[in-house]
Amino acid sequence: MKILVVNCGSSSLKYQLIDMETETLLAKGLCERIGIDGRLKHEAIGKDKFVSEEPLKDHNDAIQAVLKALLDSEHGVIKSVDEIDAVGHRVAHGGVDFAKSVLITPEVKAAIDRNSELAPLHNPANLIGIEACEKIMNVPMVAVFDTAFHQTMPEKAYLYAIPYKYYEKYKIRKYGFHGTSHRYVSQECAKMMDIPIENLKIITCHLGNGGSVCAVQGGISIDTSMGFTPLDGLVMGTRSGSIDPAVILFLMRKENLSVDEMDEILNKQSGVFGISGVSSDFRDIEEAESEGNERAAIALDTFAYRVAKTIGSYVSTMNGVDAIVFTAGLGENGSSTRQLICSYLGYLGIEIDTYKNSLRGKATEITTKQSRVQVYVIPTNEELVIARDTNEIVSNLN
Ligand code: ADP
Repeated sequence: MKILVVNCGSSSLKYQLIDMETETLLAKGLCERIGIDGRLKHEAIGKDKFVSEEPLKDHNDAIQAVLKALLDSEHGVIKSVDEIDAVGHRVAHGGVDFAKSVLITPEVKAAIDRNSELAPLHNPANLIGIEACEKIMNVPMVAVFDTAFHQTMPEKAYLYAIPYKYYEKYKIRKYGFHGTSHRYVSQECAKMMDIPIENLKIITCHLGNGGSVCAVQGGISIDTSMGFTPLDGLVMGTRSGSIDPAVILFLMRKENLSVDEMDEILNKQSGVFGISGVSSDFRDIEEAESEGNERAAIALDTFAYRVAKTIGSYVSTMNGVDAIVFTAGLGENGSSTRQLICSYLGYLGIEIDTYKNSLRGKATEITTKQSRVQVYVIPTNEELVIARDTNEIVSNLN
């Protein structure tokens, strides 16, 4: 079975074609600037990379361009569209409707549409991607939600202490995000430890441009740091993370800011970028720190402190922890950030092995033999999870 994994943004479309017999990646790529001008970057594994600048006026054009690239005699990997057996779509928000991945039906599309209110930038783009694929491919399609893994959180973790009527009226509650990644790395961690996940307490740290921490007890999410939206929780690249809500009211009054202006400040001008004034990219901030930039150093420490504090709160939530996992761009590559975060966790008996912590590119444990809690770096693979879920659901159809 060959599965096409599609991740649609408002002006982009990422894709991977995966052969499920061997779980190997056959080709991957990205359509950018959809609706502006259009560019497709395509890479078939073992072949030269290929970039085409062709007009992509909408997502229908983009998916056509993807199929053309996959079928291309030189850069392609399939001879006929019929070789694609199913499509797995990443969908941002499943609200309270979806606790796991599902076969896409008209009812499912209607529910994704209803949940657009909760993810106005992402769900409409995801739906457009689904419909563009439906127009030219007559195969089963599956939706895999970023929020689904966290639907196991108990009420005490997901309710906010505001009048209950707003939960009833607008479904205002914590949802959590990066669920596919937290699920994948926690399962991989259990495999590496060779212990059934049902018996483990794992804290997973997905640290990229956006970041979240998740408490995974017995294989299910019981709490996570992102909330009603992906703005909550950790200090991020440009997002504030958790903040006293009164700061927002104060600033809006003092600076006479509109809702949209405040939104822009919290989402685009805050985080380590806001504190350092340097960049949202940790590599730039680390460089600035090494050149003696004090605000860069404060930004990095504030970030690490917040991650460590969140980990600490989940240790008490789960009454213990067996393993901590780092993943995503910064979690996988930022060895000094990992070291800094773990420097706050000595009370757990964590000891980082400096050499192992400097290795890159594959799943590895980075603690010493004496460490009482194991710390792992595990590259995330959300596309593979989407393909696996799609494979399982589609295989059960027959
Ligand atoms: P996204 O949330 O956009 O998917 P990624 O998971 O790709 O983000 O992570 C991107 C972030 O990872 C970058 O902003 C950068 O700060 C960080 N990063 C990537 N490589 C390194 C590195 N070698 N050292 C430190 N930080 C890194």
